[in-house]
Amino acid sequence: MKHQETLLNIPTNGSRLNGFTFDEIGDDHLYTGIETPLKETAFDISDEEKKEKIADLFSQIMDVMGLDLTDDSLKGTPKRVAKMYIEEIFSGLNPENKPKIALFDNKYKYNQMLVEKNIQFYSNCEHHFVPIFGKVHVAYVSSGKVIGLSKINRIVQYFANRPQVQERLTNQIALELSEILDTKDIAVIVDAKHLCVASRGIKDDSSATVTSYYGGVFNTPEKIVELQNYLKL
Ligand SMILES: [Zn+2]
Repeated sequence: MKHQETLLNIPTNGSRLNGFTFDEIGDDHLYTGIETPLKETAFDISDEEKKEKIADLFSQIMDVMGLDLTDDSLKGTPKRVAKMYIEEIFSGLNPENKPKIALFDNKYKYNQMLVEKNIQFYSNCEHHFVPIFGKVHVAYVSSGKVIGLSKINRIVQYFANRPQVQERLTNQIALELSEILDTKDIAVIVDAKHLCVASRGIKDDSSATVTSYYGGVFNTPEKIVELQNYLKL
C-alpha cells in the first residue's frame, strides 16, 4: 500500500484515496494529473546504468517465477526487456528524446482547421504495464505557423512511449501542440483499446475508450460537428 502511494505521488489521508483504499479501487484506472509522475532523481543515472539495473531486476522477477534463466530461449530476455524499456516503449520518459520541431510560415494563408487523423500509436497502461493502442486524431487552426505533418506523429509517439493513462496522453499531446503552435485552437481525440481490459481482468475485447481535448475555437458545438465530419470522411 505505502509503496503504491509513493509512486503515485498523491496526497492521501492514510491509505485512502477519495475515500477508497487502493484495494477497493482495484483495476479501475486513476488519473492523477497532467504531468507524468516522475521522481526528482529520475535522470540522476544514465540510460546505460538504467538498462543494467532493469536487466538485473527483471531476471530476478523471472527467477522468482521459477523460470530457468540458463535456458537458451530465456537467458537473453532480461537484457532485451531492459533495452526495449529504455530505448523504445518508455523512451518518452526522457525529455532528451523529445522530437525537435521546426515550424514553417503559413504561406498559403490557410485559415481553416487542419486535421491529421488515424495516427496509429502504441503505449502501455501505467497500472498494468500492458499495451494500450489505437488511433489519435489531431486538429488545429494555424495562428501563423504550420508544423510538418509527420512531426505530429512524432509528438504522439513521444508521449505514447511512456507508462500512460489515456486521459493524460490526450492532454499531454494537446498541450504540447498548443505550446509549439502558439495557439489554443487544438483538438485531440484518442480512440484506444486497453489490453488490461481485453486480455485479462474483465476480458472485454470489444470495448474501446475514447477521450478528447477541445481547446479554443474547437470548444464550440459547431466546430466539434465540423471536426467529426472530417473524421467520417
Ligand atoms: Zn491498465
